[in-house]
Amino acid sequence: MNIIFLGAPGAGKGTQAEKVSEKYNIPAISTGAIIRSAIKNGSPMGLAAKQYTDAGALVPDEVVIGIIKERLAFEDCQNGFILDGFPRTVPQAQALDAMGVCIDLVISLEVSDETIIERMSGRRVCDKCGASYHVLYNPSADGKTCDKDGTTLTLRRDDQPEVVKDRLLTYHTQTEPIKDYYAGTGKLKLIEGVGGVEEISALVYGIIDGQGE
Ligand code: AMP
Repeated sequence: MNIIFLGAPGAGKGTQAEKVSEKYNIPAISTGAIIRSAIKNGSPMGLAAKQYTDAGALVPDEVVIGIIKERLAFEDCQNGFILDGFPRTVPQAQALDAMGVCIDLVISLEVSDETIIERMSGRRVCDKCGASYHVLYNPSADGKTCDKDGTTLTLRRDDQPEVVKDRLLTYHTQTEPIKDYYAGTGKLKLIEGVGGVEEISALVYGIIDGQGE
C-alpha cells in the first residue's frame, strides 16, 4: 500500500510513519531526513537546500521531486511505501501522478498551531540516525541521548519558535491546498493528531486495515 502522511510540521507524521513502517514492513521515506543528511554530508544538493531549510521555507519543487523519483525506484518500495513530508505543494502531488505513482491513502494529521508550537519546542532529534523524541510526550530512556545509538539529542535549528511560525505559515499557504487536491478521490482521511502516540497509531492502523479490505 502506498501512503502519504500530510500534516503541519510537528503534527507527528514522522512518528506515525515509522510505526506504520515497522508494522506493515514498508519503508517510510522522509524528504526532510534525506535533505538533512545531504546538508550534513555537504553534497551539492545539501548546500543548495540549506538556505531554504534554515529559513523554514520549502526547498524548490524540482529538487524534492528529483529526490523522490530516485528513492521510489529502490527495490524496497515495490510492496508499498510511506511518504512523510512529500508532497508539500500541489505541483509535487501532480508530479507523483505524472510519474504514474498510485497513491492508496492520504492521512492528514490535524493539529492546531498552538499545539504545534508547544510540541516543537520540546522536540529533540538524533543527528546520527534521525530518531525523533519529545522531552514530555516521547522522551528517550535517559532524556538526553538516543535510545538507538547513544548520540546526544539536539533541538533542530528549524524547530526554534521563530522558524516554526514561518514553517506553519508555509504549511497553511502551500501544503494545505493538497487536501483539496486529494479530497475528490476518496483517499483523504483526516485524523485528530492530538493524544498519545499509541492512541493515534490505533486510528491510523484502523484506516489502513479498512482500506485493505
Ligand atoms: P521535515 O523534516 O519534513 O519537517 O522537513 C524539513 C525541511 O526540509 C522543510 O522545512 C523544508 O525546508 C525541507 N523539505 C522537506 N520536504 C520537503 C518537500 N516535500 N518540499 C519542499 N521542501 C521540503
